[in-house]
Formats: sequence, C-alpha cells, structure tokens
Amino acid sequence: MLTRLTEQFEKLALRTNPKYAIGLLGRVPPSVMLKLQQARFRRTLQLAAKTPFYREEFARRRIDPARVRHPRELGDFFTTGDDLRRCGPEAFLAGRADTAFETTGTTSSETKRVFFSNRELNEMGRASAIGLYHLGLRREDVVLSAFDVSFWVSPAVVRTAFQYLGCFHTEAGKIPPEEFYERARRYRPTVVFGEPSWIARFSEIAKKKGTWELKFLFAGGENLNEETRAAVERIWGAKYFVNYGQTESFGVIGVECAAQNGYHRNDLNFFFETPETDDDGFGELVYTTLTREVMPFIRYRSTDVTKLVETPCACGLFAARIARIKGRVDEMVVCGMGNISPWVFAETLRGVPGATDEWQVRVWHENKTDVVEWRIETDGSANGRTARFVEDFVRENLRARFPDFWKNLEMRLYELRIVPVAPGTLRTARKLKRIVALETPPESRKPVKKLSVVRS
Ligand SMILES: [Zn+2]
Repeated sequence: MLTRLTEQFEKLALRTNPKYAIGLLGRVPPSVMLKLQQARFRRTLQLAAKTPFYREEFARRRIDPARVRHPRELGDFFTTGDDLRRCGPEAFLAGRADTAFETTGTTSSETKRVFFSNRELNEMGRASAIGLYHLGLRREDVVLSAFDVSFWVSPAVVRTAFQYLGCFHTEAGKIPPEEFYERARRYRPTVVFGEPSWIARFSEIAKKKGTWELKFLFAGGENLNEETRAAVERIWGAKYFVNYGQTESFGVIGVECAAQNGYHRNDLNFFFETPETDDDGFGELVYTTLTREVMPFIRYRSTDVTKLVETPCACGLFAARIARIKGRVDEMVVCGMGNISPWVFAETLRGVPGATDEWQVRVWHENKTDVVEWRIETDGSANGRTARFVEDFVRENLRARFPDFWKNLEMRLYELRIVPVAPGTLRTARKLKRIVALETPPESRKPVKKLSVVRS
C-alpha cells in the first residue's frame, strides 16, 4: 500500500516541472524510498526470470526468484558485459523494443547492444531533466551538443531531458572542435555538451580565438581529470560538470552538482551495490535496473570502481551519491610497481607542464622484470625539450606522491619507461583504455610516433 502510494507520488512528482520535482522527491523519507526500491526490484526480478538468460541461470543455480527480496540474496550471481556479448541482446529481452544503442567498449572490438522502449527513454529523460535543472539549466538557455550521435545513448537521453526543460537545443554531432567553434558562435550557446577530450580541445581553441559567456559545460562518456577540468573552467570562467553513465544503464547513473564532489545517483531507477570493497569502502559498482521492461538487468557489473556515499551533499539535493570513479576493474594491474590503477597515473600527471590528459600505460614482462611503459601525449608545442621536461616532472611527482611505487622502482622491481608522444597518437575509440596488460612484450615499439628526447 505504502509502496503503491509512493509510486503514485513519484510519478506525479516526475511529471511536474523539474523544480517542483526536486522539492517533492526531497520529502520522501529514505526508508520509504528503500521500500519502493525493494518492490521494484522484486517486480524486475520476476520479469527478468522470463527471459532466456535469467531463466537458465536461475534454474542452473536453483534460484527461486519469488523468494528473493533483496539483490544481496542472489549471492555470487551477477550479470556481466561478457554475458551480454556472448548471449546477445535477444537472451535478455522481456518486452517489445522501440530502439537500441551500442557501447564502444575498451576491452573488446565487439559492441554490446542494448534495447529500450520509448517509455523508458521518457523516464530517463525526466530523471536527467531533474539533474540538469539542479545544475542551473533553464528554459531560456541555448544548448549546443557535440555528443557523438552514432549508436550512443547519451544524445537521445539529453534530447528528451531538454524537452522537459523547454530549452533551445541544437545537435552538432561530434564534429571537429574547430568547425564546431566557428558554427557555434552564431548561436551563442549558453551551455555546451561534449565528451571530455573533445571539450578540452574545443576550449583550447576558444582560448586562442575568444570565448563568450557560458553558464556551464557538460561532459559525458569518460572520466574527467581535475586538472583538465580546472583549465577548461579558467578558459570559460564557467563551471564544467560531468555525468556518469553506461549504455547498459541507459545513460544516467549519476550526475554531478555544483559541489562537484561525486555523482548524485539515480536511486529511482536503479538499485546500487558494491559487493566487494577494500578498506576504504571502494569496490566495483553493481546495479540492478528497477524500472526497465525491455531489457532488465539484475546485478550488472559496471566494471567501474567507486564508493557509495550516504552522507548528505553540501548542495542539499535529496539523492545520495557515488564517489568519483577510481578506475575500471579490468584496468587494475598487479605488477612490480605495485597494485596500479588509472587514478595513480592521473594523480602523478597532475601539474606536469606540457603533458595532456591523453595517456596510456602498457605493462608487460621482459627479461625477468615488469616493464611499465607510460605513453603521454604532449601538447601541440611539444618538442624535444618539452619531452624531457615531461619525463623529469613525472618522475619527480611519482617520487613525491607515491613513495611506495618509487621505492619499488629504486629496488628495480620494475622498469619505468616514460614515452612522450605526439598529440592524437593514442586515441582510437571514444574511450581510451588507460592501462593495458600485455601477455608478451610488444613486437615493435614503432607504432607510436616517439618524440626525440634530449638528454642532458
Ligand atoms: Zn550535491
């Protein structure tokens, strides 16, 4: 009864304008929200159990969906991206689809396909509208988006959100930042959407050619390094926010607020868990969809490492948070350097002049030692001198910020090769895989255009 009432209340709240929705949903006590999530979870589980994948898995594991009241009770059962790739989307279909989107994974060239209904698209758009309203997006704003529309879920979701916000919106697609800059000027957008690496280049152009007044910039699609964020914010004199989501989650898992301290999570549409955590509470984010009818996912492994944050945020929004993503589970490598993950390298690179946020680490074993090769794209002005500066700075930062990793280097537990490379060398897909573990040494070191390093 309470759940039914809450559900009606939530529906009502989401159908009002985002401003009132924030106020109304903020009045739902956490205990009631949890009850709503549990009811939705049980419903989703029943629905999923009818699909070939879950029916077989549950039977094999002797799981009776009718008796499961909490995702936790499913023990070590999870759904992975590999399941989706291996079995195909048809094995997960519980209802009629209206549309599909694809992921551009970093682990496999084979994309994952995920199907949705228009109703689901509208629900997600409404939830996103709340997040964007909270960031200050209003009816009078002019939004220009450079999101890549090719099979990617985010442009569709934000377009739906804009309908609820009533703002002007034009889709440029992911065109070269130079072209975008010239054509965007005529619209005088107050808000710009794009992927982090694209926004970084776009802002560099604006720095040279001139900026205009922006309310904020908004990125999705990959993690954002704080240094790059600060640089972009300086150029525009405006805030720069990030969204966190996946195609499998239909875009929005969480969105930042003005406090820029983690993502406010979408508890209305998902049940979040971090089943295995380290001493600091960080672990792989696992989510169960709560309102999806076409392709429901039970305990989907996101492969992203984060932490559930229950303490209230300074901004006052009702939704709890997840911490900034630390890295991907499949990018955490144990080697002679130690237990390494992308954030270690991002942190080491912080404050290094001439280095950009485009970098990749390859790890392999060679001549009885682990080799950690760190390729870093330097900025356009790079020359031999910059390359050497980058290397010196990186080594100094590593020594100062990660004494344990430095100690291992001094003990020759691994060899660190820092390779500054030309801009545009590393990225081949939307997402750049940060750490790559190689089974064997790379056959040739030629593929990267290495810059000459002037040794003193
Ligand atoms: Zn907040």
